[in-house]
Amino acid sequence: MTRTAPFAAAGLSLTLLLGGCAYNDTLGRNQLILADSTGLEQQSEAAWQQLLRTQNPALTGASVDRIRRVGNRLVEAAGLSNRSWDYAVFNSESPNAFVLPSGKIGVTTSLLALVQNDDQLATVIGHEMGHVVARHPAERASSTALTNLGLQVAQGVAGSRGQTVGSFGAIAAQYGLLLPYSRRAELEADRLGVDYMNSAGFRPSQAVALWRLMAQQRQSGQPEFASTHPSDATRIAALEAYIRERGWS
Ligand SMILES: [Zn+2]
Repeated sequence: MTRTAPFAAAGLSLTLLLGGCAYNDTLGRNQLILADSTGLEQQSEAAWQQLLRTQNPALTGASVDRIRRVGNRLVEAAGLSNRSWDYAVFNSESPNAFVLPSGKIGVTTSLLALVQNDDQLATVIGHEMGHVVARHPAERASSTALTNLGLQVAQGVAGSRGQTVGSFGAIAAQYGLLLPYSRRAELEADRLGVDYMNSAGFRPSQAVALWRLMAQQRQSGQPEFASTHPSDATRIAALEAYIRERGWS
């Protein structure tokens, strides 16, 4: 609906709009992809470098090893080794995770503290990988005047000199890393994530347990994963139905 208006106003041709609509086999639906994926990857790489400089996340050590171990299992089982994945742990009291189109996955310390087992951690990692495989970052960028991300990155880099280092949440917000995906994209990432979990021998039912934990967290008034990853009854019910339909546990 309104999504095409800004582009039309900017003088982009109808041909470009049509040309940007691509069928995604994984999802079984068409996607509007206007953003140049190389540009998006370059921009997100700049955002990643900025996060590394300002937030000093853990790139090695026990927490990162744990995430990498879980991530590698998912990657191998789901045949995702054709792209590169990397992991970092950010200090934050907000349980959150994000992924960049380049395959960089960030997880916060409080999310790691929240998960009760590796299956739940696999839920988070699988979900984030699902976003990349489904090209949700490019789709989001295309539908919400995504060139803004580039501007934000440029401003972020320029504005970083000599300034106080912001919190993880502030920096991530600055780069649009925690912008919400559509509900449809979230449910798609949920399903892809449990597909990967099941292939890798993790228990898909723990995905439901994880999202219940996140929902509790939200009720307790904590800042959330939930701002980007709405953990509500609908999502939990959809996941339960999907897992039941597959005959998984
Ligand atoms: Zn998500």
